[in-house]
Amino acid sequence: MERTLEGVQPYSGFMPESASQANIRPDVGLTFDDVLLVPRHSTIRSRHDVRTDTQFSRNISLHIPIVSANMDTVTESEMAITMARAGGIGVIHRFMPIERQAQEVRRVKRAEALVVENPLSLPPHATVREARRAMRKHGVGGVIIIDSDDRVIGIVTRRDIMFAFDGVEDQPVSTVMTGRDKLITAPKGTSFAKAREMLDRGRVEKLPLVDEEGRLAGLITAKDVEHLLHYPHATKDEKGQLRVAAAVGVRPGFIDRATALVEAGVDALVIDIAHGDSTNAIEAAAKLRAEVGGAWDLVIGNVATADGTRRLIDAGADAVKVGIGPGSICITRLVTGFGVPQLSAVAAASETAAPDGVPIIADGGIRNSGDIVKALAAGAQTVMLGSLLAGTKEAPGIVVVRNGQRYKITRGMASLGARMSRDKKETQRTEDSSMKREYEHVVPEGVEATVAYRGPVEDILRQLVGGLRSGL
Ligand code: IMP
Repeated sequence: MERTLEGVQPYSGFMPESASQANIRPDVGLTFDDVLLVPRHSTIRSRHDVRTDTQFSRNISLHIPIVSANMDTVTESEMAITMARAGGIGVIHRFMPIERQAQEVRRVKRAEALVVENPLSLPPHATVREARRAMRKHGVGGVIIIDSDDRVIGIVTRRDIMFAFDGVEDQPVSTVMTGRDKLITAPKGTSFAKAREMLDRGRVEKLPLVDEEGRLAGLITAKDVEHLLHYPHATKDEKGQLRVAAAVGVRPGFIDRATALVEAGVDALVIDIAHGDSTNAIEAAAKLRAEVGGAWDLVIGNVATADGTRRLIDAGADAVKVGIGPGSICITRLVTGFGVPQLSAVAAASETAAPDGVPIIADGGIRNSGDIVKALAAGAQTVMLGSLLAGTKEAPGIVVVRNGQRYKITRGMASLGARMSRDKKETQRTEDSSMKREYEHVVPEGVEATVAYRGPVEDILRQLVGGLRSGL
């Protein structure tokens, strides 16, 4: 039927003359609930014999196929640290100022190491207050005190200043530090085993490493030694630091953000936009590769088709994130009419990506371990979880109590609430009438929801990975 409005040129895509022109195809699209896996003969004798190793991206391998989502109610440093310790990885969200996101990355990179290469240090005349602030800012439990020649002269730990109030706050740290006479140090290059023995015998928690002249050359902590034993499968780089990814957008300023993240030591940059199969994403990828130095993997998303996956691989993606509309807090399908049932999308993407060895991240809609098994069966290398992790202790945000039950909030990054709170943070504006008018033009593609508080992430991962092992 021909319908024209005077002065309006109809876009032909809206007015197809036949179904074939409209590209309506009778393909069957399947998602998690449409499918069950058919049991087959197994030669595996115990689920403990199952290996869950996989690739997050071309150069980053994981021990478990689980990635925490770049949402402001899911992944900041605390979640990313826990995910990496468990053998997965976290993607730090981008809805905060550049410096803060870089700081979140640094926190993860500093959380543990074989040797802390540049330990936090202060001169002896710094005040107790400065030491306290520096420790809090960097999320560490001690500061090495060095003289003007970098020679180690003492150490101050959190415990030394725990009860230092009022008058003591303005005193120099030299008055509260453990001085050279009592300090245990080790020569640079000391083996990890030897360091462990020294820490154990000296009953100390921090072992500064020094060169021949007594200058600070690194630090080994009891906590790192303990973590190495406790988390043998953690996702780590070659320096023994936890790996972390971080998201960037494609709007002006994204190169500055990416540069700051790479300087902070990020292992992968994730270009995360609602419609990844777009010129915006492809141009952003080229710009990142051209303008941001260093070694990092590039993840791009989200797409939901084979063609989209191919274009992102050609644009240089080291992993492709798949999912348009499956997210629990997502209303993209209702608002725009677009989406592909997630298992079909993952299957199409992985078929395209497999010959290039580019991993697929199945992002959104996962509600239990069975869904993880199905996503992997459809060809994904990893799954990205949002709401499933939003209720945990490590997710940002507070626990609210309602009718005696504990909850946390989760929300789509394209929800009105998320949009308003990041505008407020960025502009320091309070709500006023002009803001109200602006928001009348926003078309949200996400919603907010409460999720039951679920305690530590480790407990949830144990259940999910246990189920995954049984499935495999
Ligand atoms: P979930 O695990 O089902 O909660 O899905 C999480 C995923 O939903 C995220 O990783 C994003 O890909 C997607 N997502 C996050 N916020 C929004 C939104 O506001 N609209 C649509 N999708 C979103």
